[in-house]
Amino acid sequence: MFNFIKNIAWYPPAETKIPWSAIITALNNNSTDFKSILCRYLDVKHCVLSESARALLYKLLVILKKRNGIKREEVLIPGYTCYSVAAAIAKAGLKIAVYDLDPKTLHPDIDSLDHALSDKTLAVIGQHFFGYLSPIGELKSMARQHGAYLIEDAAQALGKSEAYNTPGTMGDFGLFSFGRGKPLPVGCGGALVTNNYSDILDAIEFDSGGIGYKSAVVTAATQVISKPYFYWIPELLPLGLGQTVFDPEFNTEGLPRAMESMMVMSMPNLEKLNRHRKQISEIYSEMISSELQNKDSRKKISIIRYPVTMGNICLTKELNRLGVRRMYPHIISKDKTIKLFLNKNYQPVKGADEIAKKLMTLPTHTNINKKIAKNLSEKIISISGENKKC
Ligand SMILES: *Cc1c(COP(=O)(O)O)cnc(C)c1O
Repeated sequence: MFNFIKNIAWYPPAETKIPWSAIITALNNNSTDFKSILCRYLDVKHCVLSESARALLYKLLVILKKRNGIKREEVLIPGYTCYSVAAAIAKAGLKIAVYDLDPKTLHPDIDSLDHALSDKTLAVIGQHFFGYLSPIGELKSMARQHGAYLIEDAAQALGKSEAYNTPGTMGDFGLFSFGRGKPLPVGCGGALVTNNYSDILDAIEFDSGGIGYKSAVVTAATQVISKPYFYWIPELLPLGLGQTVFDPEFNTEGLPRAMESMMVMSMPNLEKLNRHRKQISEIYSEMISSELQNKDSRKKISIIRYPVTMGNICLTKELNRLGVRRMYPHIISKDKTIKLFLNKNYQPVKGADEIAKKLMTLPTHTNINKKIAKNLSEKIISISGENKKC
């Protein structure tokens, strides 16, 4: 029987991890204040919360647009990134512009960024892919030279290290997400932080998020079906879990109170989650030889998934079952709908395209123990040795 269960176990690509006590408290609707907890943790002065990071990014961009005149109509983002970032820009009535990435490090290609910056640039968005830190200081000074803001998208990097500046606190604004598969995967929610622009944050308002029983129940249900033994259920149902689609029609509501309670209750788990992810990613790093530089020299915080590129390795059904996934389907400029919102003369992004074609990501969450990580690494090594075309 156990073997049978083991054979059907699917490892979810992302997790929703909340202590059950948090869900119960949230359902009892205790009032809480996650804003101050997050400000204190990150050591920043100002913070707004919402139902999602994209809602906050959208509201921020609308205000920046109003204050900076119609000429500044472009927001520069990595050529390969989360589609909801592009959706927030489109919803704000701005143009999407792209810069390239270095396929060896996932860092911005500085020449390409330099080329894309102009007096039309309203803001540059820098991103810490999977929790590997990007050089935000450099991006910020480049943005400054052109009178643009630097928004630090730290949706994948919530955590602290004594050695580095805390991600999300280095740009003019820092963005966090608490959705599924994020560093603190409560199920939904976002935060926007700043040290210097309290007036802008004060101008961001949301309709009340309400009590939020519905999101709490959905989160609880997601948590149940995310257990390995249940994971095949969402894999078979068209729930859209773990997929990113470009949809500028998203909701922009406040954070439901029940979700805020869950954030408060889950926050003490963050360091433990990050430590586990680092341990698992170290196993992958030792065993798998990736073309990406994932070794110790790279600054890292949360490693929500472990990225590898190794030629054109096929993502087999078996790897899929073990939680290996591609990330976003294409570079931003290849998506037919997103194309409508791109600036006219957007530049080619070769590095980003290479990443889009080759990148696979391995799960590092708490359902993955050392043994599973080793097995998974061996699978990947043996499949890459087969050299099969997909
Ligand atoms: C998930 C994610 C977002 C969007 O967060 P939501 O809370 O889902 O809106 C933005 N940027 C990056 C890099 C992300 O991974």
